[in-house]
Amino acid sequence: MHNNFQEIWQRALQKIEKTIPRESYLTWFSPLKLLSAENSEIVIGVPNGFFFEFLESHYKIQIEEALRDVSGGTLAIKFKIHQSEEEDDIQEAQPPQRAFQAPREGYVERTHLNPRYVFENFVEGDSNSFANAAALAVAEAPGKTPFNPLFIYGPTGLGKTHLLQAVGNFSLANKRAKRVVFVTSEMFMNDFVFSIKTYKTTDFSRFYRNVDMLLLDDVQFFQGKERTQQEFFHTFNSLHQVGKQIVLTSDRPPKELGDFDKRLISRIGQGLVTDIVPPDFETRLAIIQKRAEREGIFLPEEIAEYISQSIRDNIRDLEGALIKLIAYCSISNADLTLPVAREVLKDMIETSTMSLSIENIQQKVAGFYHVPVDLLIARNRKKEVALARQVAMYFCFELTNSTLKSIGVHFGNRDHSTVIHAKKLITQKLEEDPAFDAEISSIRNLLLSK
Ligand code: ADP
Ligand code: MG
Repeated sequence: MHNNFQEIWQRALQKIEKTIPRESYLTWFSPLKLLSAENSEIVIGVPNGFFFEFLESHYKIQIEEALRDVSGGTLAIKFKIHQSEEEDDIQEAQPPQRAFQAPREGYVERTHLNPRYVFENFVEGDSNSFANAAALAVAEAPGKTPFNPLFIYGPTGLGKTHLLQAVGNFSLANKRAKRVVFVTSEMFMNDFVFSIKTYKTTDFSRFYRNVDMLLLDDVQFFQGKERTQQEFFHTFNSLHQVGKQIVLTSDRPPKELGDFDKRLISRIGQGLVTDIVPPDFETRLAIIQKRAEREGIFLPEEIAEYISQSIRDNIRDLEGALIKLIAYCSISNADLTLPVAREVLKDMIETSTMSLSIENIQQKVAGFYHVPVDLLIARNRKKEVALARQVAMYFCFELTNSTLKSIGVHFGNRDHSTVIHAKKLITQKLEEDPAFDAEISSIRNLLLSK
């Protein structure tokens, strides 16, 4: 593809960026990628069908206008669904130039950092508060805390890359570090391989060993890549020796990094290793509400709850659900209501437990505690009844996709805060009382058995 087209596309993007709200630009335009261009047609990769439809119906004309303005001719635009990792985009965007050839003076500007990934946009909860605090500490005083390296691990979609980039964004913005480099482990490897091919390994080393902060994403990628690993080990040592900050992420803990050099694992262990686990309901709710707020979208409480309750262990999916819903509503001009949300998101939501109904749970839990079902629903304050009711509410919340409000309604028209309260009490009791934990497990088995 002609470099010219790449440039035209970039300039068109810059034009568009100036005319639409920042959040919309980041949401809809930053994931786009120029795939090919020939004669008078330009093909743009979009991440999924919703982007496709949304861009087609909302921004196509604007993009065509921008292209016409910068190219001086008429270019037809075509969208194509294209799945690729963000990191590919970055490399494609700057074809032959590798990170280590980039200018090194002054503050390295946005060294592959995404401005959206900042601490302000990161919602803290029990599941990530330690990692968040550690990240903030190193961002404030790079290389000057005992957290060097800082190693954050956990399953996909829980905010590792977000935190890693937040460290870099913070340190640059607050002038805590001059040369900040964020790279995925794959980019690091590509740079290294490229430097070997072009006999520029000295440049490579000089670049990577002269940063103030190295943010390396997904180091599990180095498994099985012996030479890159070796090179990384040297880079690591030379940075560490002079007190430069290193932050690493991985999808698994250090000791599970198969063939990693024992010395490297041991160095990592001398810093701080922390994990991120899936967020609880309240954190998921806060994340989704914050995201909607940032997008300038009014998200009814009920729907925010529905999404947060249905998608539990991946924040990327949680946000994906929100974007899908918004895109759907703007394309079809539908109101954002619960039935619409259920319909649109049905593919994303696990259906395994959906066959359980609230009534079902009420009956079985009442049976377990030898309490009549109607007492569960009535305003009865007897201790055994209250406990059975709370347990039933807890399971309705855990095992169905019903909203807090609708659970409340099924329990004698109680308020949704009563359901939250019940869920909190039970969760707390579970932590404190192993006998109760065993009791809840057996009820769970009872409910899930056919
Ligand atoms: P990982 O690197 O662990 O796979 P990411 O950092 O890419 O996950 O996070 C996936 C998405 O979820 C990103 O859009 C990120 O902004 C968002 N996200 C994750 N955790 C949080 C959080 N605690 N608060 C706000 N957004 C979050
Ligand atoms: Mg990541």
